[in-house]
Amino acid sequence: MHEYSIATGIVNSVLPIAEERDVEVKKVFVVAGVLRAIMPDALRFSFDAIKRRHPLLTNAELCLKTVLLHGECADCGKGFDLERPMGVCPYCGSSNVEWSGGNELFVEKIEIFTDNQEER
Ligand SMILES: [Zn+2]
Repeated sequence: MHEYSIATGIVNSVLPIAEERDVEVKKVFVVAGVLRAIMPDALRFSFDAIKRRHPLLTNAELCLKTVLLHGECADCGKGFDLERPMGVCPYCGSSNVEWSGGNELFVEKIEIFTDNQEER
């Protein structure tokens, strides 16, 4: 279950920031590309299990933003977003496609329990 190690990585990157500033984390915004094949429920479950060990994260909520795989077809000129890789253009079947995105995995920002929102 690779969601558990991803959740561990998220906690490890957020925790030092929270501890350094001594702030309690309210929300953690994570950007994940579809190629990472993350199951949102499994990730949230793992995150919730790990966060209980850390007082500054106990009330943190995980907000997951999914990034689709984007393709630009060099033959028919169409652009498209896919939830899973298919290797060819869905319009003309060409394999002459420039792919981008979908492989992201990072903490976009965190929100803390004050009036301010912390960017990172
Ligand atoms: Zn095409």
